[in-house]
Amino acid sequence: MRNAFVIGHPVAHSLSPALHNFWLKQYGIEAGYSAIDVAPESLEDFIHNIKNEGYVGGNVTLPHKVSVLPLMDALDEAAETIGAVNTIIVKDKKLHGVNTDAYGFIENIKQQHMLTNKDKAVLLGAGGAAKAVIHALLKEGFAQIMVTNRTKSKADDLQKQFGDKVVSVGWENRNSILVDTDLLVNTTSLGLKGNSELDIDLALLPETSIVCDIVYNPLMTSLLLQAKARGNPVVDGLGMLLHQAVPAFEAWFGVRPDVNTELGAYMLEQLV
Ligand code: NDP
Repeated sequence: MRNAFVIGHPVAHSLSPALHNFWLKQYGIEAGYSAIDVAPESLEDFIHNIKNEGYVGGNVTLPHKVSVLPLMDALDEAAETIGAVNTIIVKDKKLHGVNTDAYGFIENIKQQHMLTNKDKAVLLGAGGAAKAVIHALLKEGFAQIMVTNRTKSKADDLQKQFGDKVVSVGWENRNSILVDTDLLVNTTSLGLKGNSELDIDLALLPETSIVCDIVYNPLMTSLLLQAKARGNPVVDGLGMLLHQAVPAFEAWFGVRPDVNTELGAYMLEQLV
């Protein structure tokens, strides 16, 4: 039987088992997908045993997304650029480390809205997820991406890494840079259940600008509620999670799974 996993520490909160097992059942595939708690000191052993254990691959979540990178036999372009692996695929007896977060992010938006204007995007946050979003937006052809972060040095690092289309801006300027923005994305953990709310004033944001929050618990964050109330098109973060899993499932189990409203409703029930 084909088996896949998600590793993390802790890992019990991961929604990936619910997601992949939903698809396995839907497509009648006899295979397994389970969560395995792997402590950082056991990571290397676990990775070295993947082939012996007969796994077809698995997902990688915090805190292993970066540390797993040098343990791979090969990396795809996204994993290399983003500097993190969220999916492992065993192919030709090799461990392929890939990153599907950028794909999941952009696919989620494109399924819901036409990305017609790509002059300017504003990104709030400069953590791990921000790298995937920048990679996706550059590939999508955005002319300028302004990144603002509480710790400005991290936004500066992203500007250095990704080049002159990425512009680092101080967090205190997050309201004024919204002028002429085509896409606003929150990649901070602000707004996440249990965290503080994102403090932002959208007055200068054009009403046509798409507003996306990659935080998905709650589904409608205060940013999205605020944006929706003034007429902006909004995109929640759950779809990113669903879409990033599509290429992984296809590589492991040979079926390209569908992201539809039935799956969305089921996954929403899993959020606590
Ligand atoms: P990181 O820990 O790498 O980054 C967190 C970011 O939030 C940093 O930019 C940090 O700023 C900022 N931040 C945290 N607290 C504050 C605060 N009080 N004020 C201002 N900024 C703050 O996390 P990730 O990038 O991995 O993830 C970020 C969010 O995205 C999480 O909520 C995660 O759940 C979500 N996510 C969603 C995905 C999806 O599929 N929808 C996929 C991946 C992530 P600073 O640098 O100053 O600390």
